[in-house]
Amino acid sequence: MHFVKAKGIISGNNKFQGMNIYRGCSHGCIYCDSRSKCYQFTHAFEDIEVKENAPELLERALKSKRQKCMIGTGAMSDPYMHCEEKLELTRRCLEIINRYEFGASVLTKSDRVLRDIDLLDEINQKTKAVVQMTLTTYDDKLCSILEPNVCNTKRRIDVLEEMQKRGIPTYVWMTPILPYINDNEENIQSILEECVRVGVKGIICYDMGLTLREGDREYYYQALDKHFPGMKERYIKNYGNAYQLPSPNRDKLMNLFKVYCKDHNIISDPNKCFYSIADMPEKNVQLSLFDEI
Ligand code: SF4
Repeated sequence: MHFVKAKGIISGNNKFQGMNIYRGCSHGCIYCDSRSKCYQFTHAFEDIEVKENAPELLERALKSKRQKCMIGTGAMSDPYMHCEEKLELTRRCLEIINRYEFGASVLTKSDRVLRDIDLLDEINQKTKAVVQMTLTTYDDKLCSILEPNVCNTKRRIDVLEEMQKRGIPTYVWMTPILPYINDNEENIQSILEECVRVGVKGIICYDMGLTLREGDREYYYQALDKHFPGMKERYIKNYGNAYQLPSPNRDKLMNLFKVYCKDHNIISDPNKCFYSIADMPEKNVQLSLFDEI
Protein backbone atom coordinates (compact mmCIF):
# COMPACT_ATOMS: atom_id res chain seq x y z
CA MET A 1 0.00 0.00 0.00
CA HIS A 2 1.23 3.49 -0.77
CA PHE A 3 -0.25 6.94 -0.32
CA VAL A 4 -0.75 9.70 -2.89
CA LYS A 5 -2.34 13.11 -2.92
CA ALA A 6 -4.89 13.14 -5.72
CA LYS A 7 -5.87 16.25 -7.69
CA GLY A 8 -9.54 15.42 -8.07
CA ILE A 9 -11.87 12.72 -6.78
CA ILE A 10 -15.26 12.79 -8.50
CA SER A 11 -16.34 12.82 -12.12
CA GLY A 12 -19.56 12.14 -13.99
CA ASN A 13 -22.77 13.92 -14.88
CA ASN A 14 -25.37 15.94 -12.98
CA LYS A 15 -27.18 12.80 -11.78
CA PHE A 16 -24.30 10.51 -10.86
CA GLN A 17 -20.69 11.21 -9.94
CA GLY A 18 -18.21 8.38 -9.45
CA MET A 19 -15.16 8.32 -7.21
CA ASN A 20 -12.35 5.85 -6.64
CA ILE A 21 -10.69 6.29 -3.27
CA TYR A 22 -8.30 3.43 -3.88
CA ARG A 23 -6.51 2.20 -6.97
CA GLY A 24 -5.67 -1.48 -7.25
CA CYS A 25 -7.41 -4.18 -5.25
CA SER A 26 -6.54 -6.94 -2.82
CA HIS A 27 -9.56 -9.21 -3.32
CA GLY A 28 -7.69 -11.29 -5.88
CA CYS A 29 -10.55 -12.17 -8.27
CA ILE A 30 -8.97 -14.30 -10.96
CA TYR A 31 -10.93 -12.60 -13.77
CA CYS A 32 -10.40 -8.98 -12.68
CA ASP A 33 -10.64 -6.57 -15.62
CA SER A 34 -9.25 -3.68 -13.57
CA ARG A 35 -5.78 -5.20 -13.77
CA SER A 36 -5.78 -4.90 -17.61
CA LYS A 37 -2.84 -3.06 -19.15
CA CYS A 38 -5.09 -0.36 -20.63
CA TYR A 39 -5.54 1.12 -17.14
CA GLN A 40 -1.80 1.85 -17.08
CA PHE A 41 -0.90 0.87 -13.55
CA THR A 42 2.59 2.01 -12.68
CA HIS A 43 2.62 -0.15 -9.53
CA ALA A 44 1.67 -3.75 -8.71
CA PHE A 45 -2.10 -4.16 -8.74
CA GLU A 46 -2.09 -5.46 -5.14
CA ASP A 47 0.05 -2.53 -3.97
CA ILE A 48 -2.98 -0.37 -3.27
CA GLU A 49 -2.72 3.29 -4.11
CA VAL A 50 -4.51 5.22 -1.39
CA LYS A 51 -5.81 8.68 -2.21
CA GLU A 52 -5.25 9.96 1.28
CA ASN A 53 -6.83 13.35 0.61
CA ALA A 54 -10.04 11.82 -0.84
CA PRO A 55 -12.31 13.15 1.96
CA GLU A 56 -10.93 16.70 1.68
CA LEU A 57 -11.30 16.66 -2.11
CA LEU A 58 -14.81 15.29 -1.83
CA GLU A 59 -15.85 17.90 0.69
CA ARG A 60 -14.50 20.69 -1.48
CA ALA A 61 -16.33 19.30 -4.52
CA LEU A 62 -19.68 18.82 -2.75
CA LYS A 63 -19.55 22.26 -1.16
CA SER A 64 -19.43 23.86 -4.57
CA LYS A 65 -21.94 21.60 -6.30
CA ARG A 66 -25.08 23.37 -7.42
CA GLN A 67 -27.26 20.29 -7.67
CA LYS A 68 -27.54 17.26 -5.40
CA CYS A 69 -26.82 13.93 -7.07
CA MET A 70 -25.73 10.40 -6.29
CA ILE A 71 -22.07 9.86 -5.42
CA GLY A 72 -20.95 6.35 -6.30
CA THR A 73 -17.85 4.38 -5.42
CA GLY A 74 -16.53 0.92 -6.29
CA ALA A 75 -16.41 0.87 -10.09
CA MET A 76 -12.65 0.30 -10.42
CA SER A 77 -11.61 -1.00 -7.00
CA ASP A 78 -13.53 -2.23 -4.02
CA PRO A 79 -14.15 0.50 -1.40
CA TYR A 80 -14.19 -2.13 1.37
CA MET A 81 -10.83 -3.82 0.94
CA HIS A 82 -8.83 -4.96 3.98
CA CYS A 83 -7.04 -1.61 4.24
CA GLU A 84 -10.36 0.23 4.68
CA GLU A 85 -10.67 -1.37 8.14
CA LYS A 86 -7.90 0.87 9.43
CA LEU A 87 -7.94 3.78 6.99
CA GLU A 88 -11.71 4.42 7.08
CA LEU A 89 -11.54 6.65 4.01
CA THR A 90 -14.72 5.23 2.52
CA ARG A 91 -16.46 5.84 5.82
CA ARG A 92 -15.22 9.43 6.02
CA CYS A 93 -16.41 10.05 2.46
CA LEU A 94 -19.85 8.66 3.37
CA GLU A 95 -19.95 10.97 6.38
CA ILE A 96 -19.33 13.94 4.09
CA ILE A 97 -21.99 12.75 1.64
CA ASN A 98 -24.36 12.51 4.58
CA ARG A 99 -23.46 15.96 5.93
CA TYR A 100 -24.00 17.64 2.56
CA GLU A 101 -27.15 15.59 1.90
CA PHE A 102 -26.11 13.93 -1.33
CA GLY A 103 -27.03 10.36 -2.25
CA ALA A 104 -24.55 7.46 -1.96
CA SER A 105 -24.04 4.29 -3.93
CA VAL A 106 -21.44 1.68 -3.01
CA LEU A 107 -20.43 -1.31 -5.11
CA THR A 108 -18.56 -4.00 -3.21
CA LYS A 109 -18.04 -7.71 -2.69
CA SER A 110 -17.18 -7.31 0.98
CA ASP A 111 -19.25 -7.71 4.12
CA ARG A 112 -17.16 -4.87 5.63
CA VAL A 113 -19.85 -2.59 4.23
CA LEU A 114 -21.95 -3.70 7.24
CA ARG A 115 -19.69 -1.56 9.45
CA ASP A 116 -21.26 1.48 7.76
CA ILE A 117 -24.85 0.29 7.69
CA ASP A 118 -26.01 2.92 10.20
CA LEU A 119 -24.49 5.66 8.10
CA LEU A 120 -25.99 4.28 4.90
CA ASP A 121 -29.31 4.03 6.68
CA GLU A 122 -29.08 7.68 7.72
CA ILE A 123 -28.20 8.76 4.18
CA ASN A 124 -31.08 6.69 2.86
CA GLN A 125 -33.51 8.35 5.28
CA LYS A 126 -32.40 11.81 4.16
CA THR A 127 -31.79 11.25 0.46
CA LYS A 128 -30.93 7.85 -0.94
CA ALA A 129 -28.34 5.13 -0.40
CA VAL A 130 -27.83 2.16 -2.67
CA VAL A 131 -25.76 -0.96 -2.09
CA GLN A 132 -24.59 -2.94 -5.10
CA MET A 133 -22.93 -6.34 -4.70
CA THR A 134 -21.33 -8.62 -7.22
CA LEU A 135 -22.49 -12.24 -7.13
CA THR A 136 -21.01 -14.69 -9.60
CA THR A 137 -20.75 -18.07 -7.94
CA TYR A 138 -23.13 -19.71 -5.50
CA ASP A 139 -20.89 -22.70 -4.75
CA ASP A 140 -18.66 -21.79 -1.77
CA LYS A 141 -15.67 -23.86 -2.80
CA LEU A 142 -15.64 -22.50 -6.33
CA CYS A 143 -16.25 -18.97 -5.07
CA SER A 144 -13.17 -19.21 -2.84
CA ILE A 145 -11.09 -20.05 -5.92
CA LEU A 146 -12.52 -17.35 -8.18
CA GLU A 147 -12.70 -14.57 -5.56
CA PRO A 148 -10.19 -15.75 -2.94
CA ASN A 149 -9.68 -12.79 -0.60
CA VAL A 150 -13.23 -11.68 0.07
CA CYS A 151 -16.30 -13.16 1.73
CA ASN A 152 -18.28 -15.74 -0.22
CA THR A 153 -21.54 -15.27 -2.09
CA LYS A 154 -23.73 -16.54 0.76
CA ARG A 155 -22.25 -13.97 3.12
CA ARG A 156 -22.80 -11.26 0.51
CA ILE A 157 -26.42 -12.34 0.30
CA ASP A 158 -26.62 -11.90 4.11
CA VAL A 159 -25.39 -8.34 3.57
CA LEU A 160 -28.08 -7.71 0.97
CA GLU A 161 -30.64 -9.05 3.40
CA GLU A 162 -29.45 -6.73 6.18
CA MET A 163 -29.68 -3.76 3.79
CA GLN A 164 -33.15 -4.85 2.75
CA LYS A 165 -34.26 -4.92 6.42
CA ARG A 166 -33.28 -1.24 6.64
CA GLY A 167 -35.07 -0.39 3.42
CA ILE A 168 -31.79 0.35 1.61
CA PRO A 169 -32.26 -0.53 -2.07
CA THR A 170 -29.91 -3.19 -3.40
CA TYR A 171 -28.71 -4.18 -6.86
CA VAL A 172 -26.62 -7.13 -7.96
CA TRP A 173 -23.93 -7.37 -10.63
CA MET A 174 -24.15 -10.97 -11.87
CA THR A 175 -20.95 -10.87 -13.86
CA PRO A 176 -18.68 -12.31 -15.10
CA ILE A 177 -20.01 -15.77 -15.81
CA LEU A 178 -17.01 -17.85 -16.78
CA PRO A 179 -17.29 -20.34 -19.65
CA TYR A 180 -17.11 -23.99 -18.49
CA ILE A 181 -16.72 -22.89 -14.85
CA ASN A 182 -19.79 -21.21 -13.37
CA ASP A 183 -21.96 -20.94 -16.53
CA ASN A 184 -24.59 -23.46 -15.55
CA GLU A 185 -28.31 -23.24 -14.77
CA GLU A 186 -27.90 -24.40 -11.20
CA ASN A 187 -25.54 -21.54 -10.40
CA ILE A 188 -27.62 -18.85 -12.11
CA GLN A 189 -30.89 -20.17 -10.69
CA SER A 190 -29.49 -20.28 -7.12
CA ILE A 191 -28.27 -16.68 -7.32
CA LEU A 192 -31.55 -15.50 -8.81
CA GLU A 193 -33.61 -17.24 -6.14
CA GLU A 194 -31.59 -15.56 -3.40
CA CYS A 195 -31.93 -12.18 -5.10
CA VAL A 196 -35.69 -12.59 -5.05
CA ARG A 197 -35.68 -13.74 -1.42
CA VAL A 198 -33.75 -10.70 -0.21
CA GLY A 199 -35.67 -8.18 -2.31
CA VAL A 200 -32.99 -7.06 -4.80
CA LYS A 201 -34.35 -4.30 -7.07
CA GLY A 202 -32.25 -4.90 -10.14
CA ILE A 203 -29.65 -7.30 -11.55
CA ILE A 204 -27.01 -6.11 -14.00
CA CYS A 205 -25.89 -8.79 -16.43
CA TYR A 206 -24.95 -7.74 -19.96
CA ASP A 207 -24.31 -11.24 -21.14
CA MET A 208 -23.30 -14.67 -19.88
CA GLY A 209 -19.58 -14.69 -20.45
CA LEU A 210 -16.29 -12.99 -19.75
CA THR A 211 -14.07 -10.35 -21.29
CA LEU A 212 -10.29 -10.63 -21.29
CA ARG A 213 -7.65 -8.08 -22.19
CA GLU A 214 -3.91 -7.87 -22.00
CA GLY A 215 -2.80 -8.05 -18.39
CA ASP A 216 -6.09 -9.51 -17.20
CA ARG A 217 -5.77 -12.50 -19.58
CA GLU A 218 -2.33 -13.56 -18.34
CA TYR A 219 -3.45 -13.45 -14.71
CA TYR A 220 -6.60 -15.43 -15.52
CA TYR A 221 -4.73 -18.09 -17.46
CA GLN A 222 -2.25 -18.53 -14.62
CA ALA A 223 -5.17 -19.15 -12.26
CA LEU A 224 -6.73 -21.60 -14.72
CA ASP A 225 -3.47 -23.55 -14.88
CA LYS A 226 -3.34 -23.65 -11.09
CA HIS A 227 -6.94 -24.60 -10.35
CA PHE A 228 -8.43 -26.05 -13.56
CA PRO A 229 -5.77 -28.09 -15.40
CA GLY A 230 -6.41 -28.20 -19.16
CA MET A 231 -8.89 -25.31 -19.07
CA LYS A 232 -6.52 -22.71 -20.49
CA GLU A 233 -5.97 -24.87 -23.58
CA ARG A 234 -9.73 -25.22 -23.97
CA TYR A 235 -10.13 -21.43 -23.82
CA ILE A 236 -7.35 -20.84 -26.33
CA LYS A 237 -8.83 -23.43 -28.70
CA ASN A 238 -12.35 -21.99 -28.53
CA TYR A 239 -11.73 -18.26 -28.15
CA GLY A 240 -8.18 -17.56 -29.32
CA ASN A 241 -7.28 -14.03 -28.33
CA ALA A 242 -10.84 -12.69 -28.38
CA TYR A 243 -11.90 -9.85 -26.09
CA GLN A 244 -15.37 -11.29 -25.61
CA LEU A 245 -15.72 -14.89 -24.46
CA PRO A 246 -19.41 -15.76 -24.44
CA SER A 247 -20.49 -18.88 -22.62
CA PRO A 248 -21.66 -21.68 -24.91
CA ASN A 249 -24.77 -21.67 -22.69
CA ARG A 250 -25.39 -17.94 -23.06
CA ASP A 251 -28.78 -18.12 -24.84
CA LYS A 252 -30.25 -20.58 -22.36
CA LEU A 253 -28.85 -18.70 -19.35
CA MET A 254 -29.82 -15.23 -20.58
CA ASN A 255 -33.31 -16.50 -21.21
CA LEU A 256 -33.48 -17.96 -17.71
CA PHE A 257 -32.22 -14.67 -16.26
CA LYS A 258 -34.63 -12.42 -18.17
CA VAL A 259 -37.71 -14.56 -17.64
CA TYR A 260 -36.97 -15.03 -13.95
CA CYS A 261 -36.45 -11.30 -13.41
CA LYS A 262 -39.63 -10.45 -15.30
CA ASP A 263 -41.65 -12.97 -13.33
CA HIS A 264 -40.32 -11.54 -10.04
CA ASN A 265 -40.43 -7.86 -10.87
CA ILE A 266 -36.66 -7.36 -10.86
CA ILE A 267 -35.14 -4.86 -13.29
CA SER A 268 -32.90 -6.77 -15.73
CA ASP A 269 -32.15 -4.10 -18.32
CA PRO A 270 -28.72 -2.62 -17.35
CA ASN A 271 -29.66 0.91 -18.48
CA LYS A 272 -32.86 0.79 -16.45
CA CYS A 273 -30.83 -0.41 -13.45
CA PHE A 274 -28.41 2.52 -13.81
CA TYR A 275 -31.29 4.94 -14.21
CA SER A 276 -32.96 3.56 -11.12
CA ILE A 277 -29.71 3.75 -9.09
CA ALA A 278 -29.02 7.35 -10.15
CA ASP A 279 -32.58 8.54 -9.67
CA MET A 280 -32.66 10.83 -6.63
CA PRO A 281 -35.97 11.43 -4.85
CA GLU A 282 -37.59 14.56 -6.29
CA LYS A 283 -37.76 16.24 -2.87
CA ASN A 284 -33.95 16.23 -2.55
CA VAL A 285 -33.31 17.63 -6.00
CA GLN A 286 -35.96 20.32 -5.42
CA LEU A 287 -34.59 21.20 -2.03
CA SER A 288 -31.10 21.63 -3.42
CA LEU A 289 -32.37 23.91 -6.19
CA PHE A 290 -34.35 25.90 -3.64
CA ASP A 291 -31.20 26.28 -1.52
CA GLU A 292 -29.53 28.10 -4.37
CA ILE A 293 -32.19 30.81 -4.67
S1 SF4 B 1 -13.22 -6.91 -6.28
FE1 SF4 B 1 -13.29 -6.02 -8.33
S2 SF4 B 1 -11.47 -4.75 -8.49
FE2 SF4 B 1 -11.16 -6.14 -6.76
S3 SF4 B 1 -10.04 -7.91 -7.60
FE3 SF4 B 1 -12.25 -8.36 -7.64
S4 SF4 B 1 -12.93 -7.76 -9.70
FE4 SF4 B 1 -10.94 -6.76 -9.32
